[in-house]
Amino acid sequence: MSTTQGFTVAIDGPAASGKGTISRAVAAHFGFAHLDTGLLYRAVGAKVLLGEEALAAAQALVPGDLDSDALRMPEVAQAASQVAAMPDVRAALVDFQRSFAARAGGAVLDGRDIGTVICPSAQVKLFVVADAVVRARRRFEELRGRGVETSFEAVLADVEARDARDMGRADAPLRAAKDATEIDTSDMAIADAVAAAVALIAQKHPEGG
Ligand code: C5P
Repeated sequence: MSTTQGFTVAIDGPAASGKGTISRAVAAHFGFAHLDTGLLYRAVGAKVLLGEEALAAAQALVPGDLDSDALRMPEVAQAASQVAAMPDVRAALVDFQRSFAARAGGAVLDGRDIGTVICPSAQVKLFVVADAVVRARRRFEELRGRGVETSFEAVLADVEARDARDMGRADAPLRAAKDATEIDTSDMAIADAVAAAVALIAQKHPEGG
């Protein structure tokens, strides 16, 4: 049996803070499975944009729904943060996330409420932050690289609107768990942020770095 069974890394933070990149790198480094939990809310949001009812869409979600490139679009992100404020939608997605977290070999989950609600006993909790302007610039470059027509101002407004909704909602708001370690990536190269995360996890991981 693997000694890393049930080893869970929770990585939370706002949009474009770098948590997704850090999570993927950490998963590759330690051989953990990775779940970008934002995709669950994006997939539900995308179905709502197509006319489905939010709770029914959440209950019917299958892993194949998470694969589409269309989930990266800004309008899907906004729809995701709207359905994410609905407690029954969040409740419908809990079991899938917890089962993923418990898988053998270790798992890293990134999102907004992993360290606070989904995996409160995760062995490692990171809270990744960056200035809103820095995050909007990153997201703008990413969207432009994928050929999406948008402006920096529109992306900044999108990031700020989502921050406000994610931090202000009553159920599972975006906030750091008390025992989370904060990584501020505003002035950090991504390689340095990844190295900091890997070092923190290696201290707690049964097989070290
Ligand atoms: O991380 P990403 O930007 O893809 O998430 C899209 C939206 O899904 C977020 O703005 C947030 O409202 C919601 N979300 C959430 N809880 C999570 C992950 C994402 O509420 N664990």
